[in-house]
Amino acid sequence: MTSETRPSEPDYDSVDDVLTDRPSGAPEVDLSDRYEFFRVIQGYLDDASKVVGLPAHLSEMLAQPKNELIVHFPVRMDDGTMQLFKGYRIQHNNLLGPYKGGLRFHQTVSLDDLKALATMMTWKCALMKIPFGGAKGGVKVDTRALSEDELMRVTRRFTHALGNNIGPNYDIPAPDVGTSGQVMVWIMDTYMNQVGHAAKNAQRAVVTGKTLTCGGSPGREKATAQGVVHCITEWAKDNRFDLEGKTAIIQGFGNVGSFSALLLSKLGVSTIATGDHTGYMRTTEGFNAHKLSEYVKRNGSIAGYEGGKSISREEFFATKADLFIPAALENQIGAAEAKALDVKLIAEGANGPCNPEGEKILVERGIPIIPDVLANSGGVTVSYYEWVQNLRSETWDLDEVDRRLEKTMRDAYQRVFTYAREKDITPRVAAYCLALEHLGQAYAERGIFP
Ligand code: NAD
Repeated sequence: MTSETRPSEPDYDSVDDVLTDRPSGAPEVDLSDRYEFFRVIQGYLDDASKVVGLPAHLSEMLAQPKNELIVHFPVRMDDGTMQLFKGYRIQHNNLLGPYKGGLRFHQTVSLDDLKALATMMTWKCALMKIPFGGAKGGVKVDTRALSEDELMRVTRRFTHALGNNIGPNYDIPAPDVGTSGQVMVWIMDTYMNQVGHAAKNAQRAVVTGKTLTCGGSPGREKATAQGVVHCITEWAKDNRFDLEGKTAIIQGFGNVGSFSALLLSKLGVSTIATGDHTGYMRTTEGFNAHKLSEYVKRNGSIAGYEGGKSISREEFFATKADLFIPAALENQIGAAEAKALDVKLIAEGANGPCNPEGEKILVERGIPIIPDVLANSGGVTVSYYEWVQNLRSETWDLDEVDRRLEKTMRDAYQRVFTYAREKDITPRVAAYCLALEHLGQAYAERGIFP
């Protein structure tokens, strides 16, 4: 069975969302053109399964998450009213180690997207040979509409609702869109307080991406962007491309986008256009990455920043530059964007930024893509280092983390691109193939219980 023949599962979550979120009397919402992110990811799995000759029962097992948890939990708001929130944790696979993956707090969070993102975490950890499985979760909430106190209460009640479905040796969340080191610390603290005094301190590793004072690892905050930049420098080395004096455009200026701009600026690459949920901006001389990052930290977005000129989304995608780093959400690069892009390389900081139509056009146009599963795996790699430090009660210095991450990223980049060349497939499918070979070998050795 493949993604084409597999019966379309009703995405009861999105139907439910549409029904419950729709005010009475509002027109019915047509879900037929909804982007099916999970199906897209299943499609890549099918492509890679054929290349590596994965036994059919294994690709069937890996096409679905093991567990899909949905919780509803009440939170008292600042004005005294109670609001009910919906949270998720999707545990895709734990063959190689505990479930691992981010928590997304965003109004668009849906079951289908989280299933796709959880599945990608399994490939990422297997590709990087990290002893973790894959998971993803989140809360359907617009964090910008919450006060700091409300965000804390949403986080703590969500953690309470998840109960022992997470744990340092079972399922370990991390930051993703809309969550931060502070959110991870609230989760850690809530979880610790549920386990009793004697066991409390052993629970620090229940989440990664924590602040430094509360058990986080040096280098974790910039790790995803650092991994993206290691991939870019490896590509530049292989293609004899001098990065000094070159330009980049970056979509999304949160954790991954802002650190990418900062790290690229250290290599002499200037970011000449960027954008976020509020709009897009361009400047020919390049943004001061540090100033813009500080501005976004203070103001929550790039809106109102005076160092650039406002442009449309279309103008952003048509900006001529050397590099493009998507660092926002999935399904941002469709056919129109792929035709408009005028860049030499795309390094996917975001998960799933290219949809299949967009990717097809980019491949035809000969624009190389460093795929998400490889490019943004620096985050989970340093999360693994954080977990190891917590379990051993150690603190590594930044040099140690940087050295290990650089070696891991360069090695993974070379494995993916060599495999792609040898098999004449895209680096995306190559990354999936390497992950599947690792998982397939582990399944072959362990067998299936009973
Ligand atoms: P973040 O919340 O820090 O930043 C997200 C950015 O995207 C913000 O600038 C936001 O304004 C922007 N954005 C949101 N909606 C947008 C829209 N419709 N159009 C344009 N911009 C929009 O999140 P992040 O942690 O930087 O994550 C960004 C991407 O990187 C996501 O795809 C995430 O899954 C992926 N990723 C993150 C990590 C990590 O360690 N944080 C690791 C791997 C992958």
